[in-house]
Amino acid sequence: MQNIFLVPVNFSNYTILKKIFLGLKDIFPNRVFLSEAEIDHALAFSIERNQYYSSRLIAEAIPETAKLDGKVVMLAEFDLYVPVFTFVFGEAQLNGKMSIVSLCRLHEEFYTGKTDDELLLKRALKEILHELGHNYGLHHCRDWDCVMHSSSIIEQVDIKGGYYCSRCLEQAPEINLLSGAQ
Ligand SMILES: [Zn+2]
Ligand SMILES: [Zn+2]
Repeated sequence: MQNIFLVPVNFSNYTILKKIFLGLKDIFPNRVFLSEAEIDHALAFSIERNQYYSSRLIAEAIPETAKLDGKVVMLAEFDLYVPVFTFVFGEAQLNGKMSIVSLCRLHEEFYTGKTDDELLLKRALKEILHELGHNYGLHHCRDWDCVMHSSSIIEQVDIKGGYYCSRCLEQAPEINLLSGAQ
């Protein structure tokens, strides 16, 4: 049995956290739990970039979440990076346990100054499913209807589909078990 643990890291917006939790539970009934872990996010901060190094946060969280039996999705509000990119929406261990998603650049305010919580929720769920897909061994998919399509800018997050295509599901049958589908 696999479970998914949502672990907020230095999170303050509990309204959106709850919406994301419930949204994810709708997709994977009985498999999603909110959890806590002692993760010192300050250790991952880069002064030059004013961002947090996502790989460092993942490494730090591994021992802190060792007791959680399942996938761990860290959820952050601060901006994430890996050295080769300006920013990342998230990062995951391929065929692993850990992932992290940031809401920072999923907020519509970031681009247009307008608040759109519905859109934020939709984007967050897509990016969480995407990173989980990597945890289940999926690589990027060429199908724009598939949530495993890569997205390096927000328009690509909005264009791509909200769930896995049938080819990806065939490659990662555990996801069907999680969702309760046969
Ligand atoms: Zn990806
Ligand atoms: Zn796909």
